[in-house]
Order: sequence, then C-alpha cells, then structure tokens
Amino acid sequence: MIERVERLAGRVRISASATGERRQCRACGTASVRVHSRYRRRVADAPISGAPVVIELGVRRFFCEHVSCSKRTFVEQIPQLTSRYARRSLGLARTLAAVGLALAGRAGARLGVRLGLPASRSTLLRLVEQLPDPQVGAVAVLVDDFALRRGHVYGTVRKPRVQRN
Ligand SMILES: [Zn+2]
Repeated sequence: MIERVERLAGRVRISASATGERRQCRACGTASVRVHSRYRRRVADAPISGAPVVIELGVRRFFCEHVSCSKRTFVEQIPQLTSRYARRSLGLARTLAAVGLALAGRAGARLGVRLGLPASRSTLLRLVEQLPDPQVGAVAVLVDDFALRRGHVYGTVRKPRVQRN
C-alpha cells in the first residue's frame, strides 16, 4: 500500500507498507499470521521521469509455527518487487542488467546516470554475471574434431540429433 510519494532533491521517495494478513514461510511454505516485528527497508526502484526512486517499505517478520521447520522467523518479500537482502527492486535490477548487457560497464554506467539509473560499472557487470544462462535449444548435429597425431590428419565425428527428455 502506497502511503506517500514525495519529490526531494532530484529523487522520488515512495513510502509504502506490505499488506495482507498472512505470508508463507520461505523454508517450509506454511502460512503464518503471527507477526514477530516490523521494520522499514529501503529499496531503489526504476526511475520516474528520469528521477531515481527509493521506496521506503514497511515489512514484517513473521513467526513460522511449523514444528519441524528450520526457520523460527522469516521476513516477507513483496512479489515482483523485493528479494532477500537486495537493495534494488527486481525491476530495477533487470533494467540495469539490460543496460550492462548492451553497453557493458563503463559506457553503461555513464548512460545510467543520464537515465536516472545510477550504478557503478562493477555493479552493472555483477548484475550481468548473475543473469541465468540462456536456454540452449535442441541440438541438431553435434560436431567434434580430433587428430590422430598433433599437426597431422584431422577427422570429424558428427553425431545426429541429440534428444533429451
Ligand atoms: Zn517454516
């Protein structure tokens, strides 16, 4: 729930709180309604009209009441917005990773400042490294080269379509 939006010194601050009565424990999936404590965290989000955005977000720590769960408490995450320990929203991290993929570190960091996406070049590169590997489609033909003796006759092995289920 958004409580307040303010424009301050070249950036936008959004004050918001998580709502909803129950949250699922990240370890065991059991829903809990028992709140242990509340605190505010800061999450940088995608810019508005070129101005960097920070969300000051009120979140709750819940008790997990499942007897055999390894977690006694857990902090709620907001779907599509937050992840554990992250200081950037998932959307902002995706945008920065896209800038890093297109331009790499130094040029990406320079463009980011112009777009209201301040991040160091090492941050951009780290976000790119954290991206999942692209999916490889079905392999039609697998080719491998070999030589019987170094620098002599080469052979090629072609293996037709590899099927995986
Ligand atoms: Zn649990």
